[in-house]
Amino acid sequence: MTYSPKIKVGVIGVGHLGKFHVQQYHNVDNVICMGVFDINSKEAHSVSETYNIKAYDVFEDLVNECDAVSICTPTSTHYVVAKQALLSDCHILIEKPITDNIVEAEDLIKISNEYNKIIQVGHIERFNPALSELNLDNINPTFIESHRLSPFNIRATDVDVVLDLMIHDIDILLNLVKSDISNIVASGVSVLSNKIDMANARIEFINGCVANLTASRISQKQLRKFRVFENNKYTNIDFLHHSQETYILDKHKPNKQSPHVIVSENQDKYIIYSKSKIKPYNALTLELDNFIDSILNQKKPLVSAYDGLAAIEVAFKVLKQINLNNNK
Ligand code: NAD
Repeated sequence: MTYSPKIKVGVIGVGHLGKFHVQQYHNVDNVICMGVFDINSKEAHSVSETYNIKAYDVFEDLVNECDAVSICTPTSTHYVVAKQALLSDCHILIEKPITDNIVEAEDLIKISNEYNKIIQVGHIERFNPALSELNLDNINPTFIESHRLSPFNIRATDVDVVLDLMIHDIDILLNLVKSDISNIVASGVSVLSNKIDMANARIEFINGCVANLTASRISQKQLRKFRVFENNKYTNIDFLHHSQETYILDKHKPNKQSPHVIVSENQDKYIIYSKSKIKPYNALTLELDNFIDSILNQKKPLVSAYDGLAAIEVAFKVLKQINLNNNK
């Protein structure tokens, strides 16, 4: 199929996140936003009025008129909606996690390959400005620690916190550590929902790297910290405040003009601190832009369906360990 220079897009599910997709498509080049569909037609019509776009009352009408759709429905519905969209010849940007089970994710990949359609998964942290300074080709983590904490919200309690929040850090982790996982130890509890609301996982890799991931959706405050330790370097990434700080162990004292700060020193060893100047930008605009660019140039999106599948495979291993622990 050859495209006109502009890709016709639609958004399916315009609750909390879908509205942002509608809003940000307006900032992406080469796009015509055709409209939205939501099973809650009141929600669809309210978005239609706010953004002056069409609210479709019939799902098939939207997907038949679009080249691509964002799927922002609850995770438990991703498979059914995504399959219908792919079968209607649409490229899809599916919110994270790709699906709530592995068989369905594999089936979506199979269909997308048969129909030659792109699936991008909405692991938006990959586009977070705080990550932009990290040199992925030149990183060798030995230890990683992440904390992703959020106050309780009934939205997304259709899945455990591991699939809802920890999945972001699992995806980043798999992208940083170029080694297979050798062992996972995990624990978690259900507090306010009937799913796991707090979880911790220790993920060990064959190359010796260890990651300690904590996620909670019953916290009083939000926190999204990701700390990467290498032999001579510690990088502190704050996904919430879009900042990145580094501490480097060096044999040389920085000169007086240097903006770097000596945190501690001992004989010929210096721990030198610096904070990256990060250019602010909207991660969702970049994510949508990557989706449209992948369609126009027929290339792999930054976060593919295979990445989405790899992330849920690890998430289910974590959940298995939690369940084993809880059933002891
Ligand atoms: P939400 O409940 O606010 O919105 C979901 C919307 O989908 C609702 O308006 C609902 O009426 C509609 N819907 C439900 N089933 C539908 C169907 N079959 N067809 C069409 N519409 C349907 O949920 P949300 O917080 O916006 O989350 C949606 C998805 O986005 C989830 O998968 C969630 O994990 C993901 N999410 C991702 C991030 C991120 O950081 N990338 C953040 C929040 C949510």
